[in-house]
Amino acid sequence: MDRASHLSTIVDLSPAQWTLSGSAPKERHSLDLQSFLSQLLIFLNSHVACKDQNTLAIFGALPGRSVMLYPSTTQAAGSNSADANTYRPFKVLDSTVIDSLSKQVEALDASETEAPVGLVGALTKALCYINRVAALATENDQTVAVDPRILILSVSPDQSASYIPIMNSIFSAQKLKVTIDVCKVYGPDSVFLQQAAHLTGGSYIHLDRPDALLQYLTMSFLPPPSIRQLLAVPTQDKVDFRAACFCHKRIVDIGFVCSVCLSIFCQPVPVCSTCRTKFPIKTLQRLNAARPTILTSAATPTSGNASTFPSSTTNRVATTNGNGPNPNGVR
Ligand SMILES: [Zn+2]
Ligand SMILES: [Zn+2]
Repeated sequence: MDRASHLSTIVDLSPAQWTLSGSAPKERHSLDLQSFLSQLLIFLNSHVACKDQNTLAIFGALPGRSVMLYPSTTQAAGSNSADANTYRPFKVLDSTVIDSLSKQVEALDASETEAPVGLVGALTKALCYINRVAALATENDQTVAVDPRILILSVSPDQSASYIPIMNSIFSAQKLKVTIDVCKVYGPDSVFLQQAAHLTGGSYIHLDRPDALLQYLTMSFLPPPSIRQLLAVPTQDKVDFRAACFCHKRIVDIGFVCSVCLSIFCQPVPVCSTCRTKFPIKTLQRLNAARPTILTSAATPTSGNASTFPSSTTNRVATTNGNGPNPNGVR
């Protein structure tokens, strides 16, 4: 490891999902929040121990909001007291995380525990933090460049309403050259997080044995991306590339794409809600007539106006209409 590595960890702290995860039958190798946190702290300590200059930030995605758990401006109680048996950076990290986490959990209202977690907020904060770290490194003219990455530990299902902000975060991550790794600890596979890992060159791992979390973390996510090329880190066999429609925020198998602004709709629309382009009525009728065939013939575009995209490709090609004028003249 030549270069210092920065790791921003995003922890999904949905109380409802953690209760389900902890109460899963024993033969399914269930993992509760307490044992998750103790395994996670060991992993984070290992990251700090790998290299002196390694830096770390931890963000919590709580119902309806997101918080930064570490580093914290408030000094955790007990982190200053000397302990002959503990390496000081480990102690500061552990007590700060546990302290800020318990404060956040205590502040949770019983009525809001069911709300979806603020994953997008946490992801955006992590990207802003990395941007600041990178800017400071350039300012101080450090010869050692930081190798930034984000690790998302997810237990919640996808929220289709957050499709657009997550995609925007992925594009920002690509621009900042940040790798996004995803560890799906519990629950069904996340379509959007699979795409995040795939598009930023990270790994997405769905745990078969959640109780062995520490082993997965150490073997797959401890080495920085530059070293992973030399290791056989598990990758995804197949990636779910489906998108969510802009009108109902539903994940769709076949979408209708505006030929001007590439907005995605689950059904043919007369006016694009994003760019206000009007589509000829003839085309709409033709598309509507063709819909049942499109739905049954599994993703082969049968019409020329809206492009339908199969679930196995990211390329959304907007084809323009064959008959009738294109209102904005964009082809
Ligand atoms: Zn829709
Ligand atoms: Zn449009």
